[in-house]
This record gives sequence, structure tokens and C-alpha cells, in this order.
Amino acid sequence: MLRFFCLVLGLLHWTIGTADWLKQEADIMGTRIVVELFHDDPAVAQQGIDAVLAEMHRIDAAMSPFIDSSELSRVNQEAASHAVPITPELFELLQRSNQVSRLTDGAFDITFASVGFLYDYRKGIRPSEQQRSQATTLINYRQLKLDPEKNTVHFNRPGMRIDLGGIAKGYAVDRSMALLEEAGIHNALVRAGGDSRVSGDRWGRPWTIGVRDPRDRDGVVALIPLVDVALSTSGDYERFFERDGVRYHHIINPRTGDSARELRSVTIIGPDATTTDALSTSVFVLGLQKGMALIDKLPGIDAILVDRHGTLHYSNDLEPARKTITGVKPPAAAVAH
Ligand code: ADP
Ligand code: MG
Repeated sequence: MLRFFCLVLGLLHWTIGTADWLKQEADIMGTRIVVELFHDDPAVAQQGIDAVLAEMHRIDAAMSPFIDSSELSRVNQEAASHAVPITPELFELLQRSNQVSRLTDGAFDITFASVGFLYDYRKGIRPSEQQRSQATTLINYRQLKLDPEKNTVHFNRPGMRIDLGGIAKGYAVDRSMALLEEAGIHNALVRAGGDSRVSGDRWGRPWTIGVRDPRDRDGVVALIPLVDVALSTSGDYERFFERDGVRYHHIINPRTGDSARELRSVTIIGPDATTTDALSTSVFVLGLQKGMALIDKLPGIDAILVDRHGTLHYSNDLEPARKTITGVKPPAAAVAH
């Protein structure tokens, strides 16, 4: 599926209306939130923005591992000793996470946090070899037991932890977009860090999102026109520190408990941001060969990878579109990450 081919095929309706244009940014969920939307009625437009920001705060309060009172923190505190009843919303997201784990043969695994919590990228802290190898034995999504009858979660291993950092921002973007649709807002962009979703078009043109050069803050390696899709980028430049020439960053290979180092960035384009968020993290772990093989067999999902030498790789369906998406240093383009 190449919805942004709409551009090439000229299927866009080139209506320039009198709609009111609004854009707002905020820092929520430890990341930069951007909402940009159109509606004829300025009051409706502002209500749409407010609803998105409130939704982001709500999801953060429930799912942040850094907030002691969050539902996720309660699960981490209690689920090793007994089955913990959780909200249907968290239950569904845990189920979704485990589905992605099965699809990616465990490259995506929210129990990575059993090791992940031993790293502090801002302070440059990492576990010793021994701590890492011990904690890595606790990573296994199959030991995360979900009971759909009782809506409970139980950890089969003491010491196991979960973290939704690889999927929750995408989920928040999808929820936000659903709220906007309900409010009658059909032309919008919502972004949380590297996870974006767009609906409709922007003044009759596609929305445009740039993929940042992983080694140049101001550089862009691809400019992508988008209509009604989600796009997520995962990179090794977001949260990292270097020690002895080795880069330690926030995407962890569940098999080693160490950062995944085959790629520099992964951009996934697909129908919804929960999927693209989880898959961008997954493909980052899987690496070039396995990651691309997975994307090429998933209908409706495309990818742009930057390998560790800085070379770009496009999934099969994207190859014909290269001309429309490759561009460098766009003026004032929205840049993911
Ligand atoms: P960002 O948070 O910068 O948008 P990603 O979407 O790639 O980037 O998510 C990285 C986050 O995913 C990490 O900060 C961590 O919370 C989580 N994570 C890291 N490794 C894994 C993994 N193997 N499986 C699932 N989640 C992971
Ligand atoms: Mg992700």
C-alpha cells in the first residue's frame, strides 16, 4: 500500500478553503508533542488541540514508568507476586505488545525493561557485564501472562519489569487522532517525538515529514509526502552516551541486553502509529536483513533504513517512489526526531 502515491497519481482534492489553521507544541511523555490541524470553526480547532494534549497527559499518567502512581508502575511493583487486575486499555496494549513480540520473534519485547532500567543514558550509566547477563535472563515476553477472562497481568519471573516506551507514544498518537475524527476534524497532524500520524491533506497538498540524518541534527535524508498514514522513526541518536568508542543507546536487543548496533535509524510507514512505533523499534533490533525481510512480507507497511555506514535502504514497495521521497535539507519542513 502506497497511500502517499496519491501525490503522484493526483488523487488529492486541491481545495483551498477558509479553514482555520492551528499549531501547538508541548512537552509531554518526556518528548515533544506537535499538533497541527484545520477546521472552519476556530473554537472547534482549539478544542481539538486541547483534547489531544489532555489525552497525552492522561496516557502518560497511566503508562509512565517514571511516575510511581502510574498503573504501569503498580504492575511492575506487584505483578511478580500476584496477578494484577488492570484497565481494559492497558490490557489491550499489553496484548498488542505481545502480538508484536510473536511477529518479530522476540525482537520487540516490553520485558526488555528487566535490563533497561539498569541504564541511565543521561548520566552515562550502564550495568556491569555480570549484571547485564543476569538481568537478560529475565527478558521473555512469554513469561508475561495475560488472563483475558480476568483482565489481569502476572509476571512468571521475580525481578521482571515492563516498559511501554517502544509503543505507547504511537498509541497516544492514534488515540489523539481518533478524538480529532470524533470532533469532526479531518485534516490534522499529531506527533509525539518520532511518532506521527496525519489525516487528510494540508491545504490540498500532502503533509510532509522529513527523516533526520542520524549523524547531523540539521540534516534530512528523506522528505516524505504523506496522506492518511502513520510514520515512526527510531534512531540511535535520541538518547545515548559513548564509552570507549561504543554507543550505548535506548533500543535494547532482548537477546543480549545491550544496545542494537546494526542500524542508525529506522523509519516505518503504515496505517496506524501503534503499529509503526512498535515496528520501528523492532526493525532497529532485527537489523538490515531480517528487518527488511519482515517489512517486505507485511502488506501495507514500508520502511526506510539508514545502516551503520549511513547508506539508505528502501523496502520493495517504496523503491518506485524514491524520486518523490528523497530530498535533502528542505526549507521549514517538519522533521521527525
Ligand atoms: P523513541 O522513544 O525515541 O521514540 P522508539 O520508538 O524506538 O524511540 O522506542 C525506544 C524505546 O522503546 C526505548 O526508550 C525503550 O523504552 C523501548 N525499548 C527499547 N528496546 C526495546 C525492545 N527490544 N522492545 C520493546 N521496547 C523497547
Ligand atoms: Mg518505536
